[in-house]
Amino acid sequence: MPSARKYVNRRAHDYHIRRIGALTQLDKVASYLLALNYSERASPTKASQGLIQMDCVAVAVINDEWLIASNSRRLDDNDIILLSEELGIDMTYALIDRGSGQMHAEMQVLEEISASNYSAANVQFGVSKPCCKKCAEWLSHYGAKYSAWHDAQVVNWEKPDMS
Ligand SMILES: [Zn+2]
Repeated sequence: MPSARKYVNRRAHDYHIRRIGALTQLDKVASYLLALNYSERASPTKASQGLIQMDCVAVAVINDEWLIASNSRRLDDNDIILLSEELGIDMTYALIDRGSGQMHAEMQVLEEISASNYSAANVQFGVSKPCCKKCAEWLSHYGAKYSAWHDAQVVNWEKPDMS
């Protein structure tokens, strides 16, 4: 009879430190979407499922419109239909695809807010993992809110166009 593992792997402690109580409802939504997107339907192989560690989903709700982006741009309408059913609400949404391929999900949403002539001030961003330092700085600069960030090194960061 198998016994449950009792130890916790702390090797990536710095990056993953985040108390579960600090997760906002939107963080949970973002994490849910990420998990859905890497379920068997969307990721049939171990290799494709492994890409989940590179990905991140960001969500913000402005004027009852859900702005949703992912690093990978893999989200599709089916993911949102499942989310809508899970939340039990009808959703007006936009799946955002901004930048030239390297733009983090949070920055895609931020750029979309700017392009829509909305303000990011006091807008809560839900993210499936803590924002990187650069994203956190940009979100803070525009007054957006987020629950956590990390300062592990990030490569391939693409700046949003806020003009
Ligand atoms: Zn980032």
